[in-house]
Amino acid sequence: MENIVPKNFIQQQIVDDLAAGKNGNRVHTRFPPEPNGYLHIGHAKSICLNFGTAKLFGGLTNLRFDDTNPVKEDTEYVDSIMEDVKWLGFDWEDRLYYASDYFDKLYDFAVELIKRGKAYVDFQSQEVISEQRGTPTKAGVESPTRNTSPEENLRIFEEMRNGKYNEGACVLRAKIDMASPNMHLRDPLMYRILKQSHHRTGDKWCIYPMYDYAHGQSDYWEGITHSICTLEFEVHRPLYDWFVDELQETDYRPRQIEFSRLNITYTVMSKRKLLQLVKEGYVKDWDDPRMPTISGLRRRGYTPESIRNFADMIGVTKVDGVTDVAMLEFCIREDLNKRAQRLMCVTDPIKVIITNYPEGQSEAVEAINNPEDESMGKRKVPFSRVIYLEKEDFMEEPTNKFYRLAPGKEVRLRYAYFIKCQEVIKDEQGKIVALHCTYDPETKGGNAPDGRKVKATLHWVAAETALPCEVRLYDRLFTDADPDGNKEKDYLELLNPDSLQVLDHCFIEPFAKGAPALSNYQFERLGYFNVDPDTTPEKLVFNRTVSLKDNSKK
Ligand code: ATP
Ligand code: MG
Repeated sequence: MENIVPKNFIQQQIVDDLAAGKNGNRVHTRFPPEPNGYLHIGHAKSICLNFGTAKLFGGLTNLRFDDTNPVKEDTEYVDSIMEDVKWLGFDWEDRLYYASDYFDKLYDFAVELIKRGKAYVDFQSQEVISEQRGTPTKAGVESPTRNTSPEENLRIFEEMRNGKYNEGACVLRAKIDMASPNMHLRDPLMYRILKQSHHRTGDKWCIYPMYDYAHGQSDYWEGITHSICTLEFEVHRPLYDWFVDELQETDYRPRQIEFSRLNITYTVMSKRKLLQLVKEGYVKDWDDPRMPTISGLRRRGYTPESIRNFADMIGVTKVDGVTDVAMLEFCIREDLNKRAQRLMCVTDPIKVIITNYPEGQSEAVEAINNPEDESMGKRKVPFSRVIYLEKEDFMEEPTNKFYRLAPGKEVRLRYAYFIKCQEVIKDEQGKIVALHCTYDPETKGGNAPDGRKVKATLHWVAAETALPCEVRLYDRLFTDADPDGNKEKDYLELLNPDSLQVLDHCFIEPFAKGAPALSNYQFERLGYFNVDPDTTPEKLVFNRTVSLKDNSKK
């Protein structure tokens, strides 16, 4: 442990705490999602940070569902969160907890505080309580029930618990300091009434503890040493400490450490907004490949490694900022470049008949599976008389800088032969329906023995053996780099109407047959793609994960 050179302020803090002999030299973190939505890339940063930091110091990490608000929580979210954390490559082993497991203990502690005259029931409305809180420069006003006797408070709190009062009728508040410069210490709420079934405790409770109260206690009970959270909780820290100091032994202390949350360009990251996108049908579901959710990124073809690398690369700071989505894309390109199987797929086909290639004949040309990794070997790609090329690789009247196929021009078919365009075949309306080309049998493998050169190498698919497929291309979900920050328009007005483009008449080489869902490929010249789970035995469906190069900065 002594030889860990801290890479950020959190590691520095831990090194210092260990050097000071705090907490019996333990390092124990937790990832505490509220199960009120699917995890997003911001959570991934937090997951990598919590699990990664603990691992670095030989410590442990718990998964704790912070399920103190039954209104928005659901087991669907619990399940998806566990799946996503595991998929990212982290393991909480047998340390899966729920804040709701502590409801009894939390209740007992609240009773304890009441007995000590440090908590009281307030019957005023939320509005009045907020008003009375004052401002940072003006002291708050004490509630009329602030000095009610502990006996009276105990009785009422029990009635609260037993369902005597309606939602909103009263709350339990900690009695701290109505004049504190820190607003969070001005008699914060500890419990509110919610007559709602909880996804785990059912109807056992109709009062639920507030986050600030529950969180520190949960941390303490689980032996958490470093409670890493986002910056907005910095001002809550004195309250976090107050509750722990009031209620717990002094054997050890969890320490809250704050870092800046991740924001990414061209997306929103708030769970409320992501939920709205799903519920109102702006996207197909939480795992829509355009979503910044972990399940969306997975379906899009992102790998756990690429996301972990991204989290490493962005690091942790205390400065709020926005990370360019291009960085995330860089990470997946880098990862897939090393391991994705190369294939040829034609997404907007034009038929090409090679007139001097004998009808009924076919052969296999040899193709490299991944030039970055020789161990991935080679494959055979069938070649025959009729092939498909991309429409945009042909121009009947080529512009100056167009070096690809045109009448009378010669190009290379990747791994196969040189072909030359001899004739353009059109239908009655003058629409091009096919090209007649000739091939040079001497150029097998893609080189001419006479040393003549061609300026373009095109991907292609032989028609006879081609598999039909659908290809889904994605663009940014929003047209504005900062949809949350736009002053004039609501984020929903900034949705990109062209974020999904479906090409449903594509052809891919037969190697792709039976490819399992989510497997990653590079389609030569087109980008990185993966198999979408919508794939059926009849039709392969691919998502474009990312283009081959960053085209965003022209
Ligand atoms: P809310 O509390 O509004 O529902 P949240 O995004 O804070 O949303 P939580 O489920 O409470 O969601 O988050 C779990 C953990 O993930 C917290 O520790 C939180 O600090 C962290 N986290 C959430 N969003 C981000 C983000 N954008 N960047 C980094 N960490 C994040
Ligand atoms: Mg939160």
